[in-house]
Amino acid sequence: MNPCKMCGRPVAESFQFCPYCGEKMTPRTFQNHQSHSLKSEQDSTARRLIATLLLIFYFPLGLPYMWIMKPFSKKTRWIISLAFLSAILLGFTMIIIWTTLPGYSH
Ligand SMILES: [Zn+2]
Repeated sequence: MNPCKMCGRPVAESFQFCPYCGEKMTPRTFQNHQSHSLKSEQDSTARRLIATLLLIFYFPLGLPYMWIMKPFSKKTRWIISLAFLSAILLGFTMIIIWTTLPGYSH
């Protein structure tokens, strides 16, 4: 039951017009759902942007943010995490190889 916004009397959801005063009924549950999904859509877009910027400029913050706020699908999160992890491992490997190279002088 939705209260009519003109006369305030409860009107069944199936009615398009209030049977008491003739006011057009707006299906409130539908409206709420629409605006809610639109808002969460905007939120996830903002989160995705923040996560991307954090990952680019400061990934130690970007990675936990991405896992906590979940702006991407689980698969995407894993791909990004593994990409960063392998980049870090590759970096460390390069440093180790570089510092243990024969002829490397301090
Ligand atoms: Zn009414």
